[in-house]
Amino acid sequence: MAEATDPTRGSELAPEPAGLAPEPEGFASGSELAPEPEGLAPAPDRPAVHGADSALDPVAALERIAYLLEQAREPTYRVRAFRSAAATAGKAGPERLTELAATGRLRDLRGIGDTTANVIAEALAGQQPHYLVRLEAEHKPEAARVIDPAVAELRTALRGDCHTHSDWSDGGSPIDVMARAARDLGHAYVVLTDHSPRLTIAHGLSPERLRQQLELVAELNEEMAPFRILTGIEVDILEDGGLDQDEDLLASLDVVVASVHSKLRMDSEAMTLRMIRAMEHPNTDILGHCTGRIVVGRGRPESTFDADAVFATCARHGKAVEINSRPERLDPPKRLLRKALDHGCVVSIDTDAHAPGQLEWQINGCERAVACDVPVERVVNTWDAERLLAWASSH
Ligand SMILES: [Zn+2]
Ligand SMILES: [Zn+2]
Repeated sequence: MAEATDPTRGSELAPEPAGLAPEPEGFASGSELAPEPEGLAPAPDRPAVHGADSALDPVAALERIAYLLEQAREPTYRVRAFRSAAATAGKAGPERLTELAATGRLRDLRGIGDTTANVIAEALAGQQPHYLVRLEAEHKPEAARVIDPAVAELRTALRGDCHTHSDWSDGGSPIDVMARAARDLGHAYVVLTDHSPRLTIAHGLSPERLRQQLELVAELNEEMAPFRILTGIEVDILEDGGLDQDEDLLASLDVVVASVHSKLRMDSEAMTLRMIRAMEHPNTDILGHCTGRIVVGRGRPESTFDADAVFATCARHGKAVEINSRPERLDPPKRLLRKALDHGCVVSIDTDAHAPGQLEWQINGCERAVACDVPVERVVNTWDAERLLAWASSH
C-alpha cells in the first residue's frame, strides 16, 4: 500500500518494534533526563504521589513516571514498560504487592522488572521512588515554561483538544487514561481521533472497530461527566481527496480531522485538488498538519500545494486549519498560518497526542498562535463543547 512504502512517512506512524517493551535500563537516555540532580526536593503539587505520609500509591508513581517520560518526548514504546507495570500493579492490588515486596518477589509479576520493582518497593515503603524524584526535578510544567503572558492566557482559554490518539490505533494508552489526563489539565472535553483503516501501520480503525469504540466512549462519558470525550477520527485524505471511512460513520462523529499521510510529495496541483476536495466534504471539520513537514532529526520537507486555494476553501466552508503542537511537526509554518488567517480561517490548537504526557504540548501551538496574532475567538477549541459541536455540524 502506498502509505507503507512511502519513505517520507513520519515518525508518528512508524511501527513500534515488535516485542520491544524492555524494562528500562537504569535511567532513560533522553538528554534532558540524563543529569542526576542533587538535593532537589520533590514537587509539592502532586498529592497523588507526594502527599502521603506512609505508603505511596505505587500505581500512581508508575503512571506519573510514564507521564513525565512522555512529556519529555520519550518514544511511546519506551514508556510502555511503566504503563504496563502500572496496570499490572493495579490488578495485583496493594496487599499482594506488599506481600511480594516483603519477600523480594515483585518481579514474579508479569511485566515487572528491576526498575519498576524498585519503584513499587520504594513507594510501598513510603519513600519517593528515586526514578520519579529525578524525573520530577527535570520536569518543567507548562506554567514554568511560559514567558509571554499572552501565551499563558491563550492556553488557559483552551477548553479542549481536538486531535488525540489512544491505543485503539497507534497511541500508547487506553481512552480513559487519555481522557483523565486531559481532564486533569483543566480541559472540559477531548476529541478522540484515532486513525482510519488505510493506515494499517498505525492500526487504523475499521468501521466495525470504530463502532465498538463509540460504544465504549458512550460508557466512559457516563462515568466521567461533566467531562466529555467527543467522538472523532483522524481520517486519511486519499490520493483523490476522498476520505478513508464510511460516510455514515463520518457523519455520526462529533469532530472529523482530515490529514494527508501518504504520497506527501505528489505534485502541487494534484495535492491542492486533493486537499480542497477533502475540505469541501461536508463531514470534515479540521485540516490536520497541513504541510506534513517534520522539523527535527533528518526532517521532512513541506508538501507543496496552493495554500491560497486550500485556505480559501477552508474559510468558505468554515473548516479549521489545525495548529499541530507536536514538537517534531509544528505545522503549519508561521508564514502559512498567517496566510490562513488572512483568508479568514478559524484554527484549532491541537496536540496530536499519542500518550497522556503529550497532552501538555498544546503550549507549543499557543506560542505559534500568539506569534501570528491569532485572535482568541478564532480558535475553535476555546469554545465550549456545545458551540464546538454546533460549529462542526454546521458545514
Ligand atoms: Zn496525522
Ligand atoms: Zn494524529
